[in-house]
Amino acid sequence: MKVLIARLNHETNTFSPVPTPLAAFGPDGPTFDAQAYKANKGMRTAMSAFIDLAEQANATVVTPVSASANPSGPVDAGAYTMLTQRIVDAAPGCDAILLDLHGAMVAQNSPDGEGDLLVRLRAAAPGVPIGVALDLHANVTPAMVGNADVIVGFKTYPHIDMYETGEHAGRLIFDMLAGRSKPAMRWHRLPLMAHTLRSASSIGAMRCAIDHALEAEHSGLLAVSIFAGFSLSDIEAPCMSVVVVDAHTPQRAQATADRIAKQIWDDREAFVYRSEPLAESIARAKELAQGTTKPVLLLDHGDNCMSGGSCDTMDVLQEALAQGLNGIGVGPLCDPEAVQALITAGEGAAVTVALGNKSLLASIGLVKTPVYMSGIVRTICDGGYTITGPTYTGQRGSMGRTVLFDTGRARIVVTERTQEPWDLAVFECAGLDPRTERFLLLKSRMYCRPVFLPLAAALVECDSKGVTSSDYSLFSFKQVRRPVFPLDQDCAHVVPIAAAPAL
Ligand SMILES: [Zn+2]
Repeated sequence: MKVLIARLNHETNTFSPVPTPLAAFGPDGPTFDAQAYKANKGMRTAMSAFIDLAEQANATVVTPVSASANPSGPVDAGAYTMLTQRIVDAAPGCDAILLDLHGAMVAQNSPDGEGDLLVRLRAAAPGVPIGVALDLHANVTPAMVGNADVIVGFKTYPHIDMYETGEHAGRLIFDMLAGRSKPAMRWHRLPLMAHTLRSASSIGAMRCAIDHALEAEHSGLLAVSIFAGFSLSDIEAPCMSVVVVDAHTPQRAQATADRIAKQIWDDREAFVYRSEPLAESIARAKELAQGTTKPVLLLDHGDNCMSGGSCDTMDVLQEALAQGLNGIGVGPLCDPEAVQALITAGEGAAVTVALGNKSLLASIGLVKTPVYMSGIVRTICDGGYTITGPTYTGQRGSMGRTVLFDTGRARIVVTERTQEPWDLAVFECAGLDPRTERFLLLKSRMYCRPVFLPLAAALVECDSKGVTSSDYSLFSFKQVRRPVFPLDQDCAHVVPIAAAPAL
């Protein structure tokens, strides 16, 4: 038996000015064949689970591609064509295809990156079972559902169940190959653009939806996945969906998808994030810092690289300084030009540098100018560190050349590459102990939380004006099919509830 296993992950923010060339797909670009196998074996990726399952089944494993890029703008056309062609070329002659995809990829030459790939794979290997593991933020499309046998999504956000999701999808495909089940997949897509900050799996309406999914799985359905979608994408439907896989019984799969979709629709307001003005957030943070020595977290979710942010906007720092905050640890702030200037000045040098606000934000109609800041270059390092978890545990993070720039009231970790604060080490590697700061300004939405919340006194979400802002009015959605909630508050959606066969 021969199994094709590949990984191609990208969450595309179509408004992002951050380019997505081939080189973005891994620390040293994408990996192929034996290197792709090596990059995943023993890791916590869905692809790693596919490999383990295939080896347990004594299958020959073909791994043409492993490519994973941080969220950014549309994937370069040449990169998309090359990576997908390698996967498609490996399909003929395989007995099964297992794909570790994100589900919200837009390329310059494909508005439905995963859907188009699956269509081509189906054509290249007709009748061969295809199993797909997707991120919870996948924008699922008809082409994806129509050209895969099994789709399973993560059930956690922050995401920590990539391996388990791969294991789940892979197991269903191996059961299918062994004749133990014949999966039927059905879905329900809602005209609902959920907000990332309302898709945490541990609280609120998302928790409720995922609980329903787990309940249905425990009752015997093969897989039930809730997809929040990724709304910062100007495509037909950057929307929520429910995908259900059942054995033999499409009616039960559809009824379950509809039932959970109705619950989500009834809860739709809970998937909308209403921003507080930035000045109020900072004022609140200032109050929260009274009477504690622990840092207050300022989460700049309007400029988060894990949603396509440029990681160089200065709104939150400027407002914090304007309101008199002191003892602010900031980072990572991506500004390669400033890094070069600070390195040229050298450790210990007092220097004035033009910092941040350099990315073009034309897609959201904003023009910003760099902020001149004076300070001391404290540390210069290579920006490499190991993630201690819980997301991507054990993987290496690389911020490029990194400088700790001390302006007195703020100590700023300035980097050459965008970087989610996955670990305290984003500060520690530059010689800054985040525990001793009064405030920590993190360009993060969710992933910093498991790591930074335990040492913090409080958390304040700060909505700056950037390409991951929570203010949808900044974005001109031209492709999105209307009406859609919450862009159209009066959007109506009737969920047909069939008499569901007993679970
Ligand atoms: Zn996600």
